[in-house]
Amino acid sequence: MSDEKMLPCPFCGWVEPKLVTIRDGRVAQCPNCGARGAACFHGPSNMPSANSRAVLAWNTRTPSPDSGERMREALALKAIKAVTATAMDGAKALSRIMAIATSAGVKEQYSE
Ligand SMILES: [Zn+2]
Repeated sequence: MSDEKMLPCPFCGWVEPKLVTIRDGRVAQCPNCGARGAACFHGPSNMPSANSRAVLAWNTRTPSPDSGERMREALALKAIKAVTATAMDGAKALSRIMAIATSAGVKEQYSE
């Protein structure tokens, strides 16, 4: 495996692109949108490894003209997921507090 850092996907902003094995080589791929870098085949030992070349090819890939819009959409979706997760945690916490309060005999004390 390569320790070289891979940049986020230039198309969707996914931060964990993967190196995958292809026939006789390696290629960087985005698990989110499926974008791929150049296929890099195993070569003689005096060449940089297929891993290194695949990472370099990925990190220097030119984004498509609409990648800005796709990046914004991906970031918006990520923000919505984070807010939803936080709200779910809040709902669970409130539910737990209400259950404890009820079991302790606390009555609701809301007034308009
Ligand atoms: Zn992607």
